[in-house]
Amino acid sequence: MSTASESYSSTYDFIIAGGGLAGLSLAYYLSQSSLENAKILIIDQSEKKENDKTWCFWEAQPTAFDEIVRQKWNGVWFHGSRNFSQFLPIDEYQYKLIRSADFYQFIYKAISRKDNISFLIDSVLSVEKDIDNRPQVKTTQGIFKASQIVFDSTSRSSYDDPRYSQMLQHFKGWVIETDAPAFDETKPTMFDFSVEQNDECRFVYVLPYSPTKALVEFTIFSDNLLEDSVYDDELKSYISQRLKITNYRIEEVEKGIIPMSDEPCIQIPDDGIVHIGTAGGYVKASTGYSFTRTQRIIKNLVRDLERAKGNFDSFEKEKKAWRKGTYIPNWKALLDSILLDVMLKNRHSSKDIFTRLFSKNRPAQILKFLDEDTSLLEDLAIMHTVPIIPFLKSAFVVIFRKIWLFLR
Ligand SMILES: Cc1cc2nc3c(=O)[nH]c(=O)nc-3n(C[C@H](O)[C@H](O)[C@H](O)COP(=O)(O)OP(=O)(O)OC[C@H]3O[C@@H](n4cnc5c(N)ncnc54)[C@H](O)[C@@H]3O)c2cc1C
Repeated sequence: MSTASESYSSTYDFIIAGGGLAGLSLAYYLSQSSLENAKILIIDQSEKKENDKTWCFWEAQPTAFDEIVRQKWNGVWFHGSRNFSQFLPIDEYQYKLIRSADFYQFIYKAISRKDNISFLIDSVLSVEKDIDNRPQVKTTQGIFKASQIVFDSTSRSSYDDPRYSQMLQHFKGWVIETDAPAFDETKPTMFDFSVEQNDECRFVYVLPYSPTKALVEFTIFSDNLLEDSVYDDELKSYISQRLKITNYRIEEVEKGIIPMSDEPCIQIPDDGIVHIGTAGGYVKASTGYSFTRTQRIIKNLVRDLERAKGNFDSFEKEKKAWRKGTYIPNWKALLDSILLDVMLKNRHSSKDIFTRLFSKNRPAQILKFLDEDTSLLEDLAIMHTVPIIPFLKSAFVVIFRKIWLFLR
């Protein structure tokens, strides 16, 4: 890998605007594919040396990133409604934690041997077509052109169309360190709904790194953000009252806002320009999870690109799937919209819905469901365990809205 100024050339095969989760995953899978010799430029505004995110996800199979998994667990604590409080085995799955700094470093190392991949630290000003109808990226340092495709993870949809369900997952977490052992590092808390719900979906999760160190994160699914001090107060009170820890140091702070929306994303705004990552709608609307989804979708993209020999114009069949964006069956998107509507309209307490899901089904089955790997029959069986009336109301609203939007 070289820096763009060293190897500057006006044209690349692919340009990846935004070298975060989706952008670097794409560079990584391309470098492992039959397109490994494609000329690629990755542009990001930051060097990606800091740990800006902590990714948690579950997997049943080993993956390319196993060597950088910082923690992995065979079960999770769940504290829900109606005094349901249990450590749940997750059978075939492992709950895993990757620090983003390790992920960026892992990928840089994997692609650093490749002279055909360049990296530019710069701000992307725009991604557009040039006068010859070729995709290009404007940065503060110049214009970079792609002969095939610009993959863009820097654009953000505004997600403000009132015809769709618009929520946000917003959170703040502290990595805290204690002098005395305070955590069981073999037992993370995935959902603790014991915090005041305020008619929203609020929970805390605790990811122990060691007996004296853990990430404690306060999370809300709602349609409005809070003053920063509210997250701090919630964290303080959770740590002192729930975890009974009085002496601790805050080692790191993590904050984030993730869109939870069923508004369709523009996947291909123009020929030769493809939105990826959050910009491409990879976030699961009803949960805000996207690590596993991103890996799957990007692998599919690379497979399709390989078939098309990297040529944007010659993958007509695949382009349909790309436009759809997520390679996920329609009924899954429908279920996602329904769950989102139930939560947004507060038709039933989210705390109770998640509790029912995890307590009335095999927990691993719910992880499979959240990963969209369950069959239609399995989904129907799972839906049988949630309160039927609120879900029927939301199903009616969502289906009616879809028909109305289709007919307009
Ligand atoms: C703090 C946090 C924690 C999360 N934890 C989880 C989790 O545990 N599990 C899970 O499944 N999902 C999680 N998510 C959701 C999701 O996995 C992440 O948001 C993920 O990083 C999205 O990938 P992305 O490539 O779309 O965006 P990013 O990873 O943010 O990458 C976008 C990149 O574009 C760059 N960029 C943006 N604008 C410009 C510009 N104008 N010029 C140049 N560069 C630019 C940024 O620097 C960044 O590197 C989390 C999100 C956040 C914010």
